[in-house]
Amino acid sequence: MRVEDKKVVTIDYTLRDPQGTVIDTSEGNEPMPYLHGASNIIPGLEKQLAGKQAGDSVKAVIEPNDAYGPRNDEAVQDVPRSQFPPNIDIQQGMQFQANTPQGPRLVTEIGVTDENVKIDANHPLAGVTLHFDVKIVGVRDATAEEIQHGHVHGPGGHHHH
Ligand code: ZN
Repeated sequence: MRVEDKKVVTIDYTLRDPQGTVIDTSEGNEPMPYLHGASNIIPGLEKQLAGKQAGDSVKAVIEPNDAYGPRNDEAVQDVPRSQFPPNIDIQQGMQFQANTPQGPRLVTEIGVTDENVKIDANHPLAGVTLHFDVKIVGVRDATAEEIQHGHVHGPGGHHHH
């Protein structure tokens, strides 16, 4: 059975940045199931897994435009320190939810002065070329309910029923 839309695909994966640093991996955990064609995973990876089958190993290099997008310099902003609760020790690299004109976003603090906190609302992987090693563990037909919900049910999937 090949990977295509409306299939539940179970994968082992390791994601590295261009320097070889592991960003995310399923190693040590159960393989991850996803519903193909439902935007459960980034589009570039979906494209490269299509047509493969259980047992296949796939090395995928995915440019930012097919992953988390390019970095946007306008997403880097100075916010007056007075807008932060005074009891918080603001440290470089801290991540927190902030309300932005585009809605709630995860932002990263990238610099702090007495007056301002510089924050970056880019996704942490924006502008990063992703290097995936994927092993396809299994492929099965999705159920009608999974297709309707747009995600996988059962082991490793959603448990909201
Ligand atoms: Zn569901």
